[in-house]
Amino acid sequence: NVNVSRSPLTIRLCGPRGFCAGVDRAIQIVVLALKGYGAPVYVRHEIVHNRYVVEGLEAKGAVFVEELDEIPEEHRAQPVVFSAHGVPKSVPADASARNLFYLDATCPLVSKVHKQAMRHQRLGRHVVLIGHAGHPEVIGTMGQLPEGTVSLIETIEDAQAYQPADPDNLGYVTQTTLSVDDTVGVIAKLRERFPNLNDPSADSICYATTNRQEAVKQAAPGCDLFLIVGAPNSSNSKRLVEVALKAGAKQSLLVQRASEIDWDALGPIRSVGLSAGASAPEVIVNEIIEAFKARYDTTVELAEFSIENEHFLVNRELRSIELTHE
Ligand code: SF4
Repeated sequence: NVNVSRSPLTIRLCGPRGFCAGVDRAIQIVVLALKGYGAPVYVRHEIVHNRYVVEGLEAKGAVFVEELDEIPEEHRAQPVVFSAHGVPKSVPADASARNLFYLDATCPLVSKVHKQAMRHQRLGRHVVLIGHAGHPEVIGTMGQLPEGTVSLIETIEDAQAYQPADPDNLGYVTQTTLSVDDTVGVIAKLRERFPNLNDPSADSICYATTNRQEAVKQAAPGCDLFLIVGAPNSSNSKRLVEVALKAGAKQSLLVQRASEIDWDALGPIRSVGLSAGASAPEVIVNEIIEAFKARYDTTVELAEFSIENEHFLVNRELRSIELTHE
């Protein structure tokens, strides 16, 4: 309804927001593979959890599959990219067995968690993974180690009920995109029950998750509404909605596009927090700001928590393509 009288509204635009270095790298890998090897380039699983990104790459010639056996025989020489979330060890092994040319777009910070899980195991510890069942990153991390050697803990209740065979010989890692605050609680519960619990050698929750949550936390108090641009299957985006509500936003919603906003249902609003998950492109943030400007007398205020400078190099095979095209 664009004809309502234009009441004043302030948008608190969070920074950092949106693409992290791992997502940026994963998208670049697909784009460079398309440039270097031509279409089709296969991608196993959504490269990052965002429809807009996936459709944009599909338009350029990327073909998304869930499993490697969906790649037709005649296209076996074309590259297949593994998504930013990481894959179980069985996937590259399967790709090699099928003679596929694969490019791994696993975020280096997810690979770091894999290495720490393996390190715990090398030191003879049973691995506890704190994360959300069914998320591809969790499937990938569990799949670094033999079946039965990793236990998944999702909640404080799980931590309370967990009965390990050797309570003095545990090491934990976490998913990279968890709620910073909730995870502190789960680890505290595990440590209370298992005082000899071993930490990973570095935090598993990544810088991007931490910074986006902190920025939302600071901007949320007093907001009538907090919008997070992100997909329903994006773990880090869903956590931002929870953080906004916990920190005092009156309502918080996950939106994929401006067209999803039910304007009539919003009620009277004057201050709106806005951020975006690590897989959400800035173009959608702008689309949402424009949609508010069309309906309200809108002022945009920056709520900047920190500046990020992270950048991850693409795979070696792709670096010369990058050089010749830039
Ligand atoms: Fe990497 Fe963190 Fe981005 Fe995941 S959210 S891709 S771990 S930087």
